[in-house]
Amino acid sequence: MRKKFCPRCGREADKFYGRVCKYCFLEKLSVINKLPSKILIKTCKICGKIYYEDKTFFSLESAIDYSLTKIISLPEISSATYKIKDNVAHVTLKMGLEDLEKEESKSISIVSKSIICESCSKKNIGYFQSVIQLRAKDPLLKIISDEVEEELKIMNRNDPLAFISKTEEEKNGKNFYIGSKQAAVEISRNIKLKYKATVKRTSKLVGELKGKRVYRDTILISLGD
Ligand SMILES: [Zn+2]
Ligand SMILES: [Zn+2]
Repeated sequence: MRKKFCPRCGREADKFYGRVCKYCFLEKLSVINKLPSKILIKTCKICGKIYYEDKTFFSLESAIDYSLTKIISLPEISSATYKIKDNVAHVTLKMGLEDLEKEESKSISIVSKSIICESCSKKNIGYFQSVIQLRAKDPLLKIISDEVEEELKIMNRNDPLAFISKTEEEKNGKNFYIGSKQAAVEISRNIKLKYKATVKRTSKLVGELKGKRVYRDTILISLGD
């Protein structure tokens, strides 16, 4: 049988990976340089939400898990494990092709940055898309007001504009300035169903944004005596 030699190192070999021997193949196989040396995680100092790239998280752990899973999702990597110590993720990766396997490890720094997120800065400047005018008497007014606040807190997990930027006490009720139109609609629907309230919604054209008309809603919710 004719002997075969690796074109790269000249070693004699009977199996080739690509066009080279297993030593050359393993030497070239490396993902370390494709991985970042740090990941940046942002935490909002007002609402405490955690951000990595365009995603929102409610715990640092889930943000780190997500970011590491994302950066190690390279086709060469067959398995990966990591442990975190003092803001450094120690990642061990296994790569393989056919009967070959190679292990590499890398330390990735987890850099946290404190920010004010977009939703909190909007809230700070008094941004709103809808005004809920709740008209009721105490104790119902107080009960429903608390429910509105609670509901918005829950909705805020999925809708960053679900917040109250301002409230006004009126002699026959209370006004809520709400960042998200959708959240305001949902809240008014819930109050209507639960308390058999009368709901009247009006929209007002307030301007244009990127060629689209922008409307602000006023939702009047009245509860009879
Ligand atoms: Zn070789
Ligand atoms: Zn925030």
